[in-house]
Amino acid sequence: MSDIETRVSTGWKRLASTLVQGAREDASDGGTLVNIPPTRGSTVLFPTLEAMNRMDGRSHAHKAVYGAMGTPIQHELEKLLASIEGGTHTQVVNSGLSACTTALLAFLGQGDHLLLPDSVYGPTRRFADTMLKRMGINTTYYAPLTTREEVEALIKPETRIVLAESPGSHTFEVQDVPMLADVAHQAEALLFLDNTWGIGVFQPFEHGVDLSIQALSKYPGGHSDVIIGSITVNDEGHWKTLRDASIQLGQCSSPDDCWLTLRGLRTIGVRLAHQARSALEIAQWLKTRPEVARVLHPALEDCPGHEIWKRDFTGACGLFGVELKPDISVAAAERMIDGLSMFGIGASWGGYESLVLPTTGHVRRVTGEGGPKAATFRLHIGLESVDDLKADLARGLDGLAGVDQ
Ligand SMILES: *Cc1c(COP(=O)(O)O)cnc(C)c1O
Repeated sequence: MSDIETRVSTGWKRLASTLVQGAREDASDGGTLVNIPPTRGSTVLFPTLEAMNRMDGRSHAHKAVYGAMGTPIQHELEKLLASIEGGTHTQVVNSGLSACTTALLAFLGQGDHLLLPDSVYGPTRRFADTMLKRMGINTTYYAPLTTREEVEALIKPETRIVLAESPGSHTFEVQDVPMLADVAHQAEALLFLDNTWGIGVFQPFEHGVDLSIQALSKYPGGHSDVIIGSITVNDEGHWKTLRDASIQLGQCSSPDDCWLTLRGLRTIGVRLAHQARSALEIAQWLKTRPEVARVLHPALEDCPGHEIWKRDFTGACGLFGVELKPDISVAAAERMIDGLSMFGIGASWGGYESLVLPTTGHVRRVTGEGGPKAATFRLHIGLESVDDLKADLARGLDGLAGVDQ
């Protein structure tokens, strides 16, 4: 195996045993099932008022006086997630998007200022541009591959949060998270990271991050049948702020969704290692195709920020972008996508199945040049045979030659 092939699949080795052996029922008084059963419930009964009041005062602990504060299986999931991300506490919420919005609402107030990368997940951008704006919280967008000086110049006295997303949605630009964390901390602001792409292969807190967001709907769920998210911190004060806000916003997840996510996490190591290897093989092959201008996979030199990926990541996942040559029209690229049979057309990613989504025009909106200009699409590589996936893509790309563009 080449160095790069080894690299894209090594990050998960460290976590494999924890994921398989963690989150089990306590077996101290006899035999137990291997998995934690999903316990459904809203009301929690106490033997006395005194016992109930004692629990109520401990709402920052992973304990509940009411189901909305999380059921036992949610708390087991939270502990396992904290260990994957390398944090001290995790809050599970009802979607990846609400992980973004809950985190921002927890730490921002009227008059505060937020820095978002211009490659941020679209619905997070919309939240900042509409609801946060209405609340008197202003956002400035920065170029994802900003220099230290450029981003320092955007910091204001009221800047409270710098958010990073690495690699960014659609443009796959890999960000210099340690530098951004340092800039944020110098200004007494916090560095938040949407770490959905980098789960298990980017350790946020080792790189200066204060709060890490996961769309667990992606690889942790892993089977395209659950919507769930998480927020992880590594500081007691940040945990109190986050936990208070989550309770006030009524954030929790159903026991069944937590159970599905825990089930997904048992196998995420082998799925990720396999999907990352398949994706790299397909990305490298696509690079040799005459129709392809660039392959935006962080493990390839074509990808903006590739050197940062090499420095900071211990692996990759199965999601990357493809930019076609400029003489291929968007209409022709869309016909090609329609004609693929192994790749489903659909939103989201991280399941066991391969997906394709056109991303043309999803370039930076505020910070100008940088994103691809020609027809682009995003591939998610699933667990199908690489030969079948390549054959399908080859048929599609062959069909681009000689068509009336
Ligand atoms: C999918 C995604 C989200 C949102 O997750 P949902 O569970 O679908 O709401 C947030 N951030 C990133 C980077 C994502 O890819």
